[in-house]
Amino acid sequence: MGNMTSESELLGQDPLKMYIGGKWVEASDGGKLESINPYLQKIWATVPNATAGDVKAAVGAARDAFDNGPWRQTTPQQRAALMRKLGELMTRDAPRMARIESCDNGKLLRDLQAQWRYQSEWMYYYSGLATQPWGEVLPSDRANFFAFTKREPVGVVAAITPWNAPCLLMVMKLAPALAAGCTLVIKPSEHTPVSTLVFAQLVEEAGFPPGVFNVVTGGPEVGKNLVSDPRLDKISFTGSDGNGKVIAHAGAENLTRVSLELGGKSPQIVFDDCNLDAAAAGIALGIFGGTGQSCLAGSRLIVHRSVHDKIVDRLIALAKALKLGDPLDMASEMGPAATEPQFKKILSMVKAAQDEGATVAYGGKQAPEGGFFVLPTILTGVLPDMNIARDEVFGPVLSVLTFDTEEEAVRLANDSRYGLAAGLWTLNVQRAHRVAGQLRAGSVWVNAYRVTAPYAPFGGFKHSGIGRENGREGLSEFLETKTVWINTD
Ligand code: NAD
Repeated sequence: MGNMTSESELLGQDPLKMYIGGKWVEASDGGKLESINPYLQKIWATVPNATAGDVKAAVGAARDAFDNGPWRQTTPQQRAALMRKLGELMTRDAPRMARIESCDNGKLLRDLQAQWRYQSEWMYYYSGLATQPWGEVLPSDRANFFAFTKREPVGVVAAITPWNAPCLLMVMKLAPALAAGCTLVIKPSEHTPVSTLVFAQLVEEAGFPPGVFNVVTGGPEVGKNLVSDPRLDKISFTGSDGNGKVIAHAGAENLTRVSLELGGKSPQIVFDDCNLDAAAAGIALGIFGGTGQSCLAGSRLIVHRSVHDKIVDRLIALAKALKLGDPLDMASEMGPAATEPQFKKILSMVKAAQDEGATVAYGGKQAPEGGFFVLPTILTGVLPDMNIARDEVFGPVLSVLTFDTEEEAVRLANDSRYGLAAGLWTLNVQRAHRVAGQLRAGSVWVNAYRVTAPYAPFGGFKHSGIGRENGREGLSEFLETKTVWINTD
């Protein structure tokens, strides 16, 4: 367990509690859930395991705050001021929050610190959008009528998040929802519940009214209780496509609006006219960054046959040089898998790929560091109909496929049920535009990978999701449009 005193200082509360209706509460039956530090493979924190009644109370608090509380009467300027304050607190506590998330999911402290330093930008960007005019005057062709639209908050939002970037993915929902004037019940992953509970301390300190932001913790059962509550107006889910379908069904039951940010099997296309060193570095970052546990991991390398060996050699050299180690050590370059099931899944998918005929060019096994560490892995000879080319691994495993023509490259890239992101590497500007236009993916990077920002819409085509986060479109997900006709006669 490490040093308890410093841990309770880090967490700011002992025991950790849920935040419901502006009050700190334990599970009503006293139930607990343990969070395991994947590097130490030890329980490092304990959180409440919400009962069905706790979930009902949280939705009730959010409903009451929306229907009767002061939140809907706030002006956009007042909401924006609170959001800016929260952004400042997020920056102030970035080192602490980064450390908590690293203990929860084993991601590198240095990556999380950078992420946390930037995360406040979501609050600032959406606080700005909150104060922009949202409606429009309609050019009416009816005599004596003045018509206009207003955009109003959708209402009470359930936000469900996965374990790979708990607060960042939550903030991508929270910031636009707050700007819109919604209230929320958040349920973080059972594997990484801690940072969202601690985040609630910042929300309280910023001075948001009770019931605007509520957190319940627990596993899929808690999630199911939440999404089936008919008092919700909207469910915003980030997670696997399998669970996305279950949640879409739950939403359909009550006609609750649903937006989904799901998985990916994103291609990186390497043409023979690219800068090979830059491409190799971008591909390595795209698949080994965050131990590959990223929805936008560039997991399919689609490379022109003539540069296949040159790229693979460079990638092997980069993989070999990666320093695996303690996520809290700033010198580490890759951490462990976040959970034991995830560790086992990665290795079993690599084994299945070998059985299908793929070749392990590098890695493919547990790293000498032991624990949940997997070596960065490069699989060559992958064919488009192999499972390893089709299913999300959510680990540092790159599948290499080859092509001969641009047309074939595009076909292979689009031959996926997913469509979250894609990268392409070429120095030919016409080709860059042509291919970017043909890829069925929500984000396309040319001679780059992984760049995201609060103002840039992000989301998936096909099974990678429904709806968009970030940018103005991300705000629209939390708004209803109302048309008002005024008889001026
Ligand atoms: P997951 O689907 O297992 O769980 C996500 C969340 O849903 C957790 O909080 C879980 O408790 C909850 N949940 C599970 N079943 C539920 C149900 N029936 N009803 C309500 N809630 C339920 O996903 P994960 O393993 O935590 O995360 C990895 C997945 O998330 C990957 O597929 C990854 O690609 C995806 N992801 C997508 C994005 C994106 O923006 N598109 C970002 C990060 C991760």
